[in-house]
Amino acid sequence: MTELNLNNLTSDFPLLNKLMALEEVVWFNPNVTTLEQGLPYVGMDETDIHDASLRLQRFAPYLAKAFPETQLSNGIIESELVDIPTMKTALEAHCQLPIKGRLMMKKDSHLPISGSIKARGGIYEVLTHAEKLAFEAGLLSESDDYSKLLEPEFRDFFKQYSIAVGSTGNLGMSIGIMSAKLGFTVSVHMSADARAWKKNKLREHGVNVVEYEQDYGVAVEQGRKEAEQDPSCFFIDDENSKTLFLGYSVAGERLKQQFEQQQIVVDKAHPLFVYLPCGVGGGPGGIAFGLKMAFGDHVHCLFAEPTHSPCMLLGVHTGLHDEIAVQDLGIDNLTAADGLAVGRASGFVGRAMERLLDGYYTLTDERMYQLLGELNLAEGIKLEPSALAGMPGAIHVEHNSEYLTSLGIDDTTLANSTHLVWATGGGMVPEQEMAAYLAKSSV
Ligand SMILES: *Cc1c(COP(=O)(O)O)cnc(C)c1O
Repeated sequence: MTELNLNNLTSDFPLLNKLMALEEVVWFNPNVTTLEQGLPYVGMDETDIHDASLRLQRFAPYLAKAFPETQLSNGIIESELVDIPTMKTALEAHCQLPIKGRLMMKKDSHLPISGSIKARGGIYEVLTHAEKLAFEAGLLSESDDYSKLLEPEFRDFFKQYSIAVGSTGNLGMSIGIMSAKLGFTVSVHMSADARAWKKNKLREHGVNVVEYEQDYGVAVEQGRKEAEQDPSCFFIDDENSKTLFLGYSVAGERLKQQFEQQQIVVDKAHPLFVYLPCGVGGGPGGIAFGLKMAFGDHVHCLFAEPTHSPCMLLGVHTGLHDEIAVQDLGIDNLTAADGLAVGRASGFVGRAMERLLDGYYTLTDERMYQLLGELNLAEGIKLEPSALAGMPGAIHVEHNSEYLTSLGIDDTTLANSTHLVWATGGGMVPEQEMAAYLAKSSV
């Protein structure tokens, strides 16, 4: 890593002054391109998404039995798409600005098994690894009914292998619960900000939880080191994993189906704007990739980050990607938003996706708490703070005339648009913990 010259950097990128002042900022990406022009840089395409989708279908009979909560959806881990009209009114009042389009929410917060967006990527990566090991051992083939993985023979087989991951909480939950269920020996390296209830829940599942007093970056590095010393250990690399990314990307075709079922049109005259909370970037990046493949240039994705952890905005805006961390600017990376407390973004995701993302914005923890209370009051939906990061997105989009003009979107088109807030977590937060969250909102 080269020595950063902060003075040069802030004169080249004046927006950084606002980041350092912890102000809420919005940055629309001047270098956004069409899917056709941007796709070659992703290095993956629809064949890869299709492959991931088929793998999840193969595992569905197993998941339906291993996790009864997925029985209704036949072992497919998917979330609801809901309208939030009362919240729209509350948001308009909160920001004192109108929203012309429709406001909807994707409830990954309530995904089965682990109650967060990580039930997509994290679980998919564990399943991919398990399948590979079982194939190599000649214990399983693609045409088998995968519910045979419930048999003790498989648990004994997987017990010889271990899995390790570094996490701020939710990734550890997904990987820990899924790995332990299959029979793997699993260690989750948790950063200081990880909640006690998540650690306890993992221990109940027989997961080895290793705690750190430092942040996510340190937990990941320690996890990586430990795994390197053990050849039977597979380290899940949140920052660089294409497998995780592809697990998330399947959300695109699933959402397209849900839109069709609800007869919501997405086309040039009916654009779709999606607001995704971003930590290291794999979740929102993979989902944005899937959305682009499903809806083409009619979907516009924006990433949302805490003012104290704007790592992806910083990396993409400066073009330095993972060569810069928010701490290099003196930003502390301290936020109540679990999953978003990441100082250095994934270079892989930033470089792959930067041409396909319309913009980035930040918001304060106070605003997340406020919106958390408002959403509960308006819609009776309870989320964890990070999951509210997508909520102000519609306001930013609808009230930036320069951006709308660049897209050729007029008032009529705006009125026909859909704003989708990707709610990323909160479904498993214990009641007491939720009461404490709600108490931080003045609603
Ligand atoms: C992990 C997480 C995110 C962001 O995902 P990344 O892949 O880290 O960018 C957003 N919200 C919640 C609740 C998360 O747990």
